[in-house]
Amino acid sequence: MTQIKALAIFVLFFIYSNLLAQRFDDVVMKTHQITDQIYMLEGAGGNIGIFTGKDGVLMIDGQFSELSLKIKEAINTISDHPIKYLVNTHWHGDHTGGNANFAKDGTTIIAQHRVRKRLTMDQIRPYAGTTPAADSLAWPTISFGEDLEIHINDESVQLLHVHNAHTDGDSFVFFPLSNVLHMGDCFFRDRFPYIDLDMGGTVDGAIAAIEAAMMIIDEDTVIIPGHGSLANKEDLRRYLAMINTINDRVKNVTDDATKLEDLDVESLTEGYKDWGGGFINGEKWIRTLFTDFTRNQSK
Ligand SMILES: [Zn+2]
Repeated sequence: MTQIKALAIFVLFFIYSNLLAQRFDDVVMKTHQITDQIYMLEGAGGNIGIFTGKDGVLMIDGQFSELSLKIKEAINTISDHPIKYLVNTHWHGDHTGGNANFAKDGTTIIAQHRVRKRLTMDQIRPYAGTTPAADSLAWPTISFGEDLEIHINDESVQLLHVHNAHTDGDSFVFFPLSNVLHMGDCFFRDRFPYIDLDMGGTVDGAIAAIEAAMMIIDEDTVIIPGHGSLANKEDLRRYLAMINTINDRVKNVTDDATKLEDLDVESLTEGYKDWGGGFINGEKWIRTLFTDFTRNQSK
């Protein structure tokens, strides 16, 4: 009996791991060139930034571990240099999942202190289960608080921490000379945002982060969003306007007696229907704004 049980568990596990692997089999890495030396790779998960040159490759985010080989192949077609640094814009698995596979090759992983802390410990969500600690090989060996500069390929690349935005450990990666900004998941182009309230994200922080980005860029800056296609300042302005507009609407119809079910998602997202096609639909977006607002009220 126990043998049959063990066999059944083995078969189920085998089917499950095959399904997981298949999920990534069809993913094709698309390479978008931004400058002579900077590229965006689009696969599954957060957009990857690549900066190549004589000193080596600096890479921003690494998607899921199952995609590391495809990512390395894509990088090999644009660069003959080793991948020297991998910067994580934040803790989420579709940005840090590949860390160990790159660290194995000698790549140095860099992130904000809280990204490292979260990777080293099990992360528990009150209503959505636990993400186990990552393999120690995946932990950043260099971490920072507010900011850090990496001097590579004749550019001083700035890692800038923004507080309690999409999570509590977000950073922008800014290339002042090349005029390119990777915003991690603080920016989804033309989609409703994901603000991870369980992991230290806040609506006010998300707005402040976008406002901070607006201060350092100009109309010619190319922005790599966490998800979605390449963007510019005008796209970011439209995103900020959407967040402020819908946030104000939710605040205006919410009082002490309001329950989440009372809110009319249709009217609150009026004018922004096509922004809900991604990971966050209108209902999830309104729930985030309502939860954040009522949480602040009860403080
Ligand atoms: Zn994220």
